[in-house]
Amino acid sequence: MTRKICLVIIDGLRNDTARTECGYLAAAIEGGQARAWTMQACLPTISAPIYETIHTGLAPVEHGLLSNEAIRSSPHANIFSELKAAGKSAGVVAHSYFHTLYGGTAFDPFEHVEINDPDAPIAHARYYSMAGYSQSNPAMPSEVDLCAQAWAIARDAAPDYLLLHTSSCDTLGHFYSGEGKEYRIQAWKVDNALSRLIPRLRDAGYDVMVTADHGMNADGHHAGDEPCLREVPFIVFSEAFPAAPEALLDQRIIAPTVLTLLGVEPPETMNTRIVQ
Ligand SMILES: [Zn+2]
Repeated sequence: MTRKICLVIIDGLRNDTARTECGYLAAAIEGGQARAWTMQACLPTISAPIYETIHTGLAPVEHGLLSNEAIRSSPHANIFSELKAAGKSAGVVAHSYFHTLYGGTAFDPFEHVEINDPDAPIAHARYYSMAGYSQSNPAMPSEVDLCAQAWAIARDAAPDYLLLHTSSCDTLGHFYSGEGKEYRIQAWKVDNALSRLIPRLRDAGYDVMVTADHGMNADGHHAGDEPCLREVPFIVFSEAFPAAPEALLDQRIIAPTVLTLLGVEPPETMNTRIVQ
């Protein structure tokens, strides 16, 4: 079976919270189905810059996107562009920022909430906008709904690369802080939904990687250089991931590693490698 990869980005999930609250992931690690590393997020620990880091293998100071407000279409070689050039396919369930970065145009919910187009930069996509969310109305996409959408894409289109990005931990972390019970319980809610998705993906031939862009501090903020912001989980359901067991992983390894595992030569710009 040709290898396929699902990358799960749990936005704003601290490494320590992942380890204490995510019982399904802990069970998978304890049972030998998955392996866990600590990954060091790049600076600044802000979402859009790190989405771009994860997909280009470049640090924010290298790719030039240094704030959410500066978001633009990625001008760099990235996982999506390299897969498309190699004749491979991609699917995403993610925040609308990912459409702006890799979908070819700025996000318009009435045009882009659902994309099924083999000629599009990302052939299979489901986006959410989070328009109108506030602390008094912290409605957010259901984690199970997001996982079910990801599964529907995997089942029906079987893209080589599938990205699932969930924003709820980040949202509740901003509202209640990275030390709040609401944040910790939301981490478990994501984990509980993943317990229904990941076994299906594994049965369908997917390797799965679970990580975060950055963490969350006691102020309900992230951007700077604190361990609770820079240390994120990297949990791998795959026999092929070659990192040494105690290695501290650099976030820039994700893009070249995903491409290599999918049989695509990484471009020269993706030059950070796993320490084995
Ligand atoms: Zn945030």
